[in-house]
Amino acid sequence: MLLKLEMLQPSGAFKLRGAANAVLARMEEGPCEGFVTASTGNHGRALAYAARAVGKRAVVCLSDLVPQNKCDTLERIGAELDIGGASQDVATVRAMERAQDEGLFYVSPYDDSYVIAGQGTAALEIMLERPDVETIVVPLSGGGLAAGTALAAKTIKPSISIIAVSSDRGPAMLASLMAGEPVEIEEEPSLADSLGGGIGLNNRWSFDLVRQYVDEVRIFSDEEIAEAMRYLYESEKLMAEGGAAIGICAFQAADAEMPDGPVVMLLTGNAVDPAQFRAIIAGEWEPTARPASRATFPRRYFVGSSSDQSRS
Ligand SMILES: *Cc1c(COP(=O)(O)O)cnc(C)c1O
Repeated sequence: MLLKLEMLQPSGAFKLRGAANAVLARMEEGPCEGFVTASTGNHGRALAYAARAVGKRAVVCLSDLVPQNKCDTLERIGAELDIGGASQDVATVRAMERAQDEGLFYVSPYDDSYVIAGQGTAALEIMLERPDVETIVVPLSGGGLAAGTALAAKTIKPSISIIAVSSDRGPAMLASLMAGEPVEIEEEPSLADSLGGGIGLNNRWSFDLVRQYVDEVRIFSDEEIAEAMRYLYESEKLMAEGGAAIGICAFQAADAEMPDGPVVMLLTGNAVDPAQFRAIIAGEWEPTARPASRATFPRRYFVGSSSDQSRS
C-alpha cells in the first residue's frame, strides 16, 4: 500500500490544488472583487489561502455542523466567516446569494471544472512517479477529487481501478449513483466530517464524471474510521483526519478486498480536532448515536452496474 500525503499540503489538504486552479483561472479572466464558497472546512481554508496569495477577499459560508477548530483555522488564514444553517446545502445557497450581491466569484468545493482539474493533478503526479499503479483509493464526498483523480488516471491508464470511499453516515454521492440522478439525503454528524454535505441537486460536473470513471464506492462506519486513524498514528506516525484515514478501512475492514497490483491511497487532509484525536488514540472515543429511522446503503457498490449487483 502506497500513501500519497496530500495532508501535508500548505493548507492541510489536497483542496489547495482545486482552489488554486480556480482562483488563477478567474484572475486571468479579468478584475474580480474576491471569492466566496461554502465549505465543511478544507476547501474554505484552501480558497482563503489561494485568495490571499493573490491579494483578494475570501468569504466562507459554513453550516452549524462544522467543528470549532476548523473555524479558528479559517479565521487565522484571513477568511471572512458566515456561519449558520443545519446543512451544507443551506450554506451553499447563502454563498451563491453573496456572490450575486457582492460581486464575488463563487467557487464550489467540488462541482467546478477548474476545481476538478486541479484536484486531478495529484493523480497526474502518481501516474508519473508510479506508472505501475493498478488501483487508487480516494475519499469521496461531493466527488470533485474522485472525478479529477479518475479522469486524469484513466486518461493515462484506462485499466486502472478507482475505488471511492465514504462514510455510511449520509453518503450522498452513493445514494445519487444508486438513484441514477443527484438526490438529497439526511446528513448525520460523522467522524469523517469533511465528507459530509450533499452533491447539489443541480450538479453539473462531478456526478456525471464519477458515474463514468469511478469503478466502485465503499462505505465505512465511524468505528472503522476511528480504527483507521489509530492505525495511521501508531504505524505511520501520521495524524490524519477521519475523512482521510477512511481509505485505510478499505484494507482493514473485516470484509476488505483489494484488486491485485500496487495500490495508492490518497491521504487527503489533517484537520483533526486535537481532543477528539487524543480520545481516539486512547481508545476512549465513542461514536455519536444514530437515528433509528436512518436509511441504509450497501457497503460496496459497483458503479455502472445495476443496483441488484451491489453487495451489502
Ligand atoms: C473535501 C475532502 C474530501 C472529499 O473531496 P470531494 O471532492 O468533496 O469528494 C476528502 N477528504 C478531505 C480531507 C476533504 O477535505
